[in-house]
Amino acid sequence: CGIVGYVGSQVPSARPLDVVLEGLRRLEYRGYDSAGVAVVEPDGALVTAKKAGKLANLVELLEHEPLPSGTAAIGHTRWATHGGPTDVNAHPHVAGKLALIHNGIVENFATLKAELLADGVEFRSETDTEVAAHLVSRAYEQTGDLTVALTQVARRLEGTFTLLAVHADVPDVVVGARHDSPLVVGLGEGENFLGSDVAAFIAHTREALELGQDQVVTISPSSVTVTDFDGAPVEARRFTVDWDA
Ligand code: GLU
Repeated sequence: CGIVGYVGSQVPSARPLDVVLEGLRRLEYRGYDSAGVAVVEPDGALVTAKKAGKLANLVELLEHEPLPSGTAAIGHTRWATHGGPTDVNAHPHVAGKLALIHNGIVENFATLKAELLADGVEFRSETDTEVAAHLVSRAYEQTGDLTVALTQVARRLEGTFTLLAVHADVPDVVVGARHDSPLVVGLGEGENFLGSDVAAFIAHTREALELGQDQVVTISPSSVTVTDFDGAPVEARRFTVDWDA
């Protein structure tokens, strides 16, 4: 339902986890039944926390079991479509060293899941989303490139999606893809943002890029690159958010 992504280790005041939680708070108006975050640490460890119910439940969990401050983070508020609103079904979904969040519905998840199960993959959740996490993780193992991996998987998914992923091997990168579901980029100085809505990063920047249909974006603290689902570079439309935060 709501999606936030952040990279930017050089900005001491903008700890990735705090930026993502703040973004999720600003997306609460959309409604949701559970929430979760993933943080990648500079040394390449990946940690997640997720909880059914209000964002306050996740914040309380994080007070008891704090996550380390990382270089990149992603956060999600879920509106369940496949699998009940439980802790386990909340996003992010982890596969190997990858964590992934998703807005929308993967219509062909049953076919993809059968294929993965036949190959020995173990599923933890009942969501349609978890297939995408396993597929991107496996594509990364084969290609060694997170953007290429996400692009390959985006081409295979049917339905609607905004996907964000982080991987422990590339601790200062967040990748995203969209098809029939929104994704915008917030442009910072030494930091960059992704959101399902500009509200996700309006507290930090008003400079933004609107992704077109069927595009993939890769953000690092100092770069933003956008391609189509064939991997060809495209120019995204730049705009300034003009409403009050
Ligand atoms: N279909 C996914 C799920 O049920 C994502 C739902 C959403 O957009 O929040 O987990």
